[in-house]
Amino acid sequence: MKIRVLGCDGGELKGYFPVAFLINDHLLFEAGSVTSKLSLQEQLKIKEIIISHSHLDHIKDLCFLADNLFLSGAGHPTIPIYSSEAILTDLKKNIFNGIIWPDVTKIPSLEHPLYQLRSIKSTLTLSELKVEAIAVTHSHAALGYIISDKKGAIVFSGDTGPTEELWEKVNTLKNLKALFLEVSFPSGLADIAWASRHLSVETVIREIKKIKHHPTVPIYLYHLKPVYAQKIQAEIKKLHMPRLKILKSGSLLHV
Ligand SMILES: [Zn+2]
Ligand SMILES: [Zn+2]
Repeated sequence: MKIRVLGCDGGELKGYFPVAFLINDHLLFEAGSVTSKLSLQEQLKIKEIIISHSHLDHIKDLCFLADNLFLSGAGHPTIPIYSSEAILTDLKKNIFNGIIWPDVTKIPSLEHPLYQLRSIKSTLTLSELKVEAIAVTHSHAALGYIISDKKGAIVFSGDTGPTEELWEKVNTLKNLKALFLEVSFPSGLADIAWASRHLSVETVIREIKKIKHHPTVPIYLYHLKPVYAQKIQAEIKKLHMPRLKILKSGSLLHV
């Protein structure tokens, strides 16, 4: 699998970019940093979008992407956006409502809109990729995802606090290639991390202990709050755990 990290930060600041991953050039996971990172030609190649939850740092570029697709005049086919029913309802009610942004689920026509919102029950197949949604502990109805092809699986935690079901699933995977795990705060801010249903460095260590197998699989930490990024990195470095890697916006991974 080819993974382009368009953005992997837990907020926006000069040099930091909200979350978006482009997988095998056609599947977009999250839409925090898309339109400023991809050329129009690259944006036109996106065939499907999956979203973990409806917080703005994960969805904002859905708006600008729709605008580009519409104005490109390329007659782009409708792009399905997959997530849980509740998150799709959030998008429809609060973003694509004709006030914050036009209702791109009806434009340019009901028969041929820019986006179609499709709820994901558990598993779906998108070309060569299988996508499985797992409930995690964050805003209401937030999801993590397991994405797999014939060679193996990668796991994205999405935004989450301490969680269980995701690790139960991870423990059943035979061929895990990489794990992408959020860490938003340094250890000293465990209270804020808990209140906002995120992980701190301290709780990341506890979460990792729930993984029973795959001792050498790399764990890419992402969604660091930009203001605390250096502090979090320093704390991670002190742990001397080579499998923990801080993910950087703009990187390209082949797994
Ligand atoms: Zn977030
Ligand atoms: Zn969030």
